[in-house]
Amino acid sequence: MVNRTSLLAALIFTLIGSTATTAAARQFNNVVIISIDALHPEALKSAQIPTINKLMQTGAYTLDGRSTEPPKTLIAHTAMFTGLFPVESGKLDNDWMPGEATVKHETIFDDAKGKNFKTGYFFSKEKLGYLVNKAIDVQAWSPDGAVDLAETFIKTDGRHFVFLHISGLDQVGPEYGWLSPEYLEELSFIDDYLTPLVETVIGKQNYLLIVTSDHAGHDKIHGSDHPEDYRLPLLICSDTVVVQPVKDRPFSIVNFREMLAGMINAPGH
Ligand SMILES: [Zn+2]
Repeated sequence: MVNRTSLLAALIFTLIGSTATTAAARQFNNVVIISIDALHPEALKSAQIPTINKLMQTGAYTLDGRSTEPPKTLIAHTAMFTGLFPVESGKLDNDWMPGEATVKHETIFDDAKGKNFKTGYFFSKEKLGYLVNKAIDVQAWSPDGAVDLAETFIKTDGRHFVFLHISGLDQVGPEYGWLSPEYLEELSFIDDYLTPLVETVIGKQNYLLIVTSDHAGHDKIHGSDHPEDYRLPLLICSDTVVVQPVKDRPFSIVNFREMLAGMINAPGH
């Protein structure tokens, strides 16, 4: 039996603890989760990222998140989506090809569909197609266009739940090194690319905006048992539920689904 108890509970309840009294009957128009693949939390301290920095100033964040064992892209995202450890979900490898079996457990998209969101999943690595299920209304794999597709989707009528996965750092890291100047420059590029989408979400009001990642890396290596490889950030912003300015509480990626469900199940939702 896997022990799921973690200090995250403190983070969750601090984040949403005052929701019930202050967010009466307000519904999210948009819930947007942005997973920046291979984002080392320390990069958020030194890269030129005005849009993400603005979110950090208004929201809550921790730079002390932890990925799965092993800290690899598809294994970590499966834990994020299902709330299950790899041994529980059965997704123990980091590979998937079109035509192979997809996730068999319920995911964050089932939770969102239960709340009548229009759901969109836009990802830049083909193997993340493993996580496509029937609770997703619109999905697309696009190595370079996922951000644009997500923004277009958010601009359609209705209440949206979006998961957007962005690549780039996972390529620059192995080539130039995690936290190298080139790595930080790539993050700056991603921040710039995200700006119109973030402005659209904020402009539509009643939003929950989350920026996180699947794992980090060290030197030019990732996916190993080096402590840096397990690290990830979690940043939460909302004008609808109260998020306390919490910093650097421990957070485990396997608790992501539970945390998110707690927020979209808050009164009024
Ligand atoms: Zn990854």
